[in-house]
Amino acid sequence: MGPLRAELLKKELSIFTFGDLLEYYPYRHIDRTRINSIDSLRPDMEFVQLAGVILHQEVVGQRAGKRLLVSFKDRTGTIELAWFQGINWVQKIIQTGCSYLVYGRLSFFNGRPQLVHPEIEKIEPEQTLEKKFLEPVYSTTEKLKSKGLGGRALGRLTQALFAQLKDSDLTEPLPLDALKPMTLMVRSEALRQIHFPESTEHYQQALLRLKFEELLVAQLRMQLVRWQRHRFSEGVVFEKVGQYFNDLYKHHLPFGLTGAQKRVIKEIRADTANGKQMNRLLQGDVGSGKTIVAVLCMLLAVDNGYQACLMAPTEILCQQHFASVSALLQKLGLSVGLLTGSTRTRERKQLLNQLEEGSLSLLIGTHALIEDSVTFKKLGLVIIDEQHRFGVAQRAQLWKKSVVPPHMLVMTATPIPRTLAMTAYGDLDYSVIDELPPGRQPIKTVHRFEKDRSRVMDFIKSEITTGRQIYFIYPLIEESATLDYENLMKGYEEVKAFFPEPSYHISMVHGRQPAEQKEINMKRFVEGDTQIMVATTVIEVGVNVPNASVMVIESAEKFGLSQLHQLRGRVGRGSEKSYCVLLTGPKLGADARERLKIMTQTGNGFEIAEKDLALRGPGEIEGTRQSGALPFKLASLVADRSLLEVAREKAAQLLEMDPGLESPRHARLREFVNLRKAILTWSKIS
Ligand code: ADP
Ligand code: MG
Repeated sequence: MGPLRAELLKKELSIFTFGDLLEYYPYRHIDRTRINSIDSLRPDMEFVQLAGVILHQEVVGQRAGKRLLVSFKDRTGTIELAWFQGINWVQKIIQTGCSYLVYGRLSFFNGRPQLVHPEIEKIEPEQTLEKKFLEPVYSTTEKLKSKGLGGRALGRLTQALFAQLKDSDLTEPLPLDALKPMTLMVRSEALRQIHFPESTEHYQQALLRLKFEELLVAQLRMQLVRWQRHRFSEGVVFEKVGQYFNDLYKHHLPFGLTGAQKRVIKEIRADTANGKQMNRLLQGDVGSGKTIVAVLCMLLAVDNGYQACLMAPTEILCQQHFASVSALLQKLGLSVGLLTGSTRTRERKQLLNQLEEGSLSLLIGTHALIEDSVTFKKLGLVIIDEQHRFGVAQRAQLWKKSVVPPHMLVMTATPIPRTLAMTAYGDLDYSVIDELPPGRQPIKTVHRFEKDRSRVMDFIKSEITTGRQIYFIYPLIEESATLDYENLMKGYEEVKAFFPEPSYHISMVHGRQPAEQKEINMKRFVEGDTQIMVATTVIEVGVNVPNASVMVIESAEKFGLSQLHQLRGRVGRGSEKSYCVLLTGPKLGADARERLKIMTQTGNGFEIAEKDLALRGPGEIEGTRQSGALPFKLASLVADRSLLEVAREKAAQLLEMDPGLESPRHARLREFVNLRKAILTWSKIS
């Protein structure tokens, strides 16, 4: 290949090496094992192959309109073949009265089937066809096509490469013996068969082998990273469960813990006692009770002579945490500090002193926590609530606050499917609260159209009359902040028309407001001064207003599933029956309709996340780390879940025998895994 086309391959498809070309897999194959009969051709067929005789040929038209028309016949009918270019050349190779095999894209012209520029090849009259194969087709780009590297030309390149390769050039990296009783096709064979399969069965075997390889390597990589981290990290040791923990656990819990909460506390207990730094992600649906888990963990730190802090993204969230946590801990005679941007200077000074000398053990706060002026005497545990609002760099700041890095627990309320978690977070320690506290009333979710609006408003009126509070949420349209603002204002006026002052009071929160304004409006709603909150999705994170019973989502078709679920989680936090109304216009796409249907059918965040994954594919799911999270060319997190489970298990078995993959037997495997490092690496959450 010349330098120009080589350069294009690098630029357009990131194919730099022969290896890259081998792993540039076809996205489908054309079945050339079949011969179609002319009378069976239908408009929905794409590529067809015919065997027959040329009856007649003729060049018609002038100059640009010049074309060669050939009438071609098999036992069942006739069809027209047409060439607009290379006419002389085609005329040289075809002969009226002889038999040919033709192959091309089927089109219909004036209702009659036609093949334009088909491939054509002479055959003997009753020849049985040996040229049976599945021809690969690759995705390509316009630029490449213009340089003669179309979807099928790439196959010819690959074929040329295979012709020069020996099987020994493609040594087997997987320890196939160790993987028994699985029987996998060897790599060299799989690579050939995925491009040029002998049969559909061979193709399936090749696909299985290469998918498994992807999944196994990814799992090995993640587990190796984790192993290395555990091996080299040093962490503070919480060796005992002490008085504070026991006192709260045995005497002062306002409710019995769920099984999931207990399990997670156990996992964290074990993880903070082993002398390694904990780096754990805690996932739990909205309302699953992460706060109490956080509190118990903080007490574990205190019982072992360490300080702990809880960081949340907004002032209001911090205040809410502070109020509920101090109420709990008061009973134990333990005090908690609150440090936010609006903490007064004198108070702040006092807090900082107490932290430094160690007389204050527990602190709740916003970003203010990570400022350099905040120093701890003996920080042992950092808990971060609502993870996605904090950047990695910010978290790293917290590490520096102690000689031995404190344990880190990151809590997030965005459920992600198990397969995705295993792939995206496989290198982290990971806990899930997959059970809601008992007695929760499900949130009744309905889909209503614009034309039902006045009925929806009547219902809302009756809810407000009984003392409840209401959210109206408007979508953010990313392309236009101005449009967002206009939509919101229009909505606000509309709501105000239904709910006029002075009987009703409305708060409004949106991204264009200064932070203080936002806080004030939020606060009025939280404290019940306003009955209605009109907002964009800035409201999403963690606010707790148990008295709010209706969530109205405007233009609900514009939201993704996980966002809808998060928003819905803002209601249903008290003992009252709660509702979520998804409002849309009359016209809905199939996907939007499916999302709305799922929302009305289930309240389970993990189930919704699974559906979301199936609908949108993994690249789009919130809460996943784009970089390196999904390095698969072939494997699918939706379709190949069970294969992923097997790969994970096999990876664990291999590493159990040989934790660092250091034995000579695994040298090739280790090399192979390391080669893929660049694609897969992601190590710490902090
Ligand atoms: P989230 O996981 O969304 O942060 P919270 O910790 O705020 O959830 O808990 C939601 C509500 O459920 C709180 O009012 C909390 O007191 C309550 N709660 C938590 N755990 C339990 C439990 N095991 N039984 C009953 N109520 C619980
Ligand atoms: Mg929470």
